[in-house]
Amino acid sequence: MSWQARIDEALEQRRQHGLLRTRTASQQGSGRWRVQDGRRWRNFASNDYLGLSQHPAAIAAWQQGAARYGIGSGASGHVTGYSEAHAGLEQALADWLGYPRALLFISGFAANQAVIAALAQKHDRIVADRLSHASLLEAAHLSPATLTRFRHNDPEALRAALSTPCDGQQLAITEGVFSMDGDSAPLADLAEVSRAAQAWLMVDDAHGIGVVGEGGRGSCHAAGIQPELLVVTFGKGFGISGAAVLCSESVARYLEQFARHLIYSTAMPPAQAVALQAALTCIQQGDALRDRLQRHIQRFRDGARQLPWQLSASHTAIQPLIVGDNQAALSLSAALSARGIWCSAIRPPTVPPGTARLRITLTAAHEDEDIDVLLEALHDAARG
Ligand SMILES: *Cc1c(COP(=O)(O)O)cnc(C)c1O
Repeated sequence: MSWQARIDEALEQRRQHGLLRTRTASQQGSGRWRVQDGRRWRNFASNDYLGLSQHPAAIAAWQQGAARYGIGSGASGHVTGYSEAHAGLEQALADWLGYPRALLFISGFAANQAVIAALAQKHDRIVADRLSHASLLEAAHLSPATLTRFRHNDPEALRAALSTPCDGQQLAITEGVFSMDGDSAPLADLAEVSRAAQAWLMVDDAHGIGVVGEGGRGSCHAAGIQPELLVVTFGKGFGISGAAVLCSESVARYLEQFARHLIYSTAMPPAQAVALQAALTCIQQGDALRDRLQRHIQRFRDGARQLPWQLSASHTAIQPLIVGDNQAALSLSAALSARGIWCSAIRPPTVPPGTARLRITLTAAHEDEDIDVLLEALHDAARG
């Protein structure tokens, strides 16, 4: 089959199954409102859980950082791209989360790929929760290690997977808060099982950091564990983008040698690191934002109990409604859109077949009124 025929066929198949993905350009996409073509929708699709993407202090910090450093880092951090702003942020993150070291990456996707590619060798085994993010599973697939996926949030399944003979090292992988279900991993048990098998544990807390736990320190701090590798990302609760890997001194030195996404990629702009430092301060002082978010979550769950769609066992900002059928999920999303509500339908392969869903995300930027409008629209859609 020619390149062209292959591409056309793949697109046609996606279309036929109701799985074609499209992007729409907005004038604003984060925060309380999504604005497009001069119209605005209440935004229930962004991961900006604390509303920090619009926070005046973080915006001012980015502007001040740009005035001081310019707008680009100029090179990889291994050349000239590493500034005092980067170093200061790494130190602040390490101190905040109680690790010896933090290393910045330009995205969570890159951090996950880099860590797994740098660590995993032939004969090693990676044992990942089967609902782990694409960046984790894909990196594991591409690595020379073998990949085993264990039953979602099941420490016994992890124990079983880790207990079959392995000639190399074992790495257990999970998320703190799962991105498409909003449920939390049983981290204390997973850490205990990993430790007993002499496996290392890697936790991706993209959706927990800043939002979950005392002072927003995330899922691991809340569970009282310190995994060997903790990945936190800045595109969600921090309201910006980028990521960091928290680890020991020697792992950090190893990653500085072998993490290709660090070595062969331009460092994040220093001004972004300055803005992230300001966002971190907002998070550290963010109890009021987190309380507000919790109240929205409670309000939504109380009002959604009578809906015909299954609510997820989630106490986080991610409150998906599992619809099942792809087209039904798209129709529900369209019905909400007609009522001025923006909320994406998430379909396979992002989620398992037959579990297409409306991924509702609540944020501190919402008002009570927004939640009520959403609930009313959902109840009306349920009545048909
Ligand atoms: C969003 C996400 C990532 C990717 O992070 P980016 O910084 O957006 O590249 C990684 N892991 C999980 C669980 C995520 O939800």
